[in-house]
Amino acid sequence: MKALKIDHVGIAVRNAQERLRLYRDFFGLEISKVEELPERGLRVYFVEIGDTRFEILEETSENSEIHSFLEKRGEGFHHIAIRVEGIEQAVEEAKKHGLKPLSEMPQKGAHGTKVVFLHPKTAGGILFELVEGGDE
Ligand code: ZN
Repeated sequence: MKALKIDHVGIAVRNAQERLRLYRDFFGLEISKVEELPERGLRVYFVEIGDTRFEILEETSENSEIHSFLEKRGEGFHHIAIRVEGIEQAVEEAKKHGLKPLSEMPQKGAHGTKVVFLHPKTAGGILFELVEGGDE
């Protein structure tokens, strides 16, 4: 497998409007899109920086996939997303390298992407997200 680029850096926040003062008002970055992912309990703000972006994740329900993260660790760095080609094959290769995918099949990500997360305990404490497709 060959990783293509850092697609985005995921940041978990409790209140996006408050946090956007840092990204938008201080760093001067543009919010390109806001997307609701109700099945994952998330509202996602895309903040463009150079040819990559921050993905600001705000929980919209107690079933949110970032709920326990926020409870345990509070706001902050959540994951780093690596763009790949052929995500199904990348998952198979990840397993051969002792990495544990959090789902067997790619899930629907923001921007029409397919995504799979790798368990941080198997990846040096970092939650990696593999990303394929979407409208960039
Ligand atoms: Zn992400």
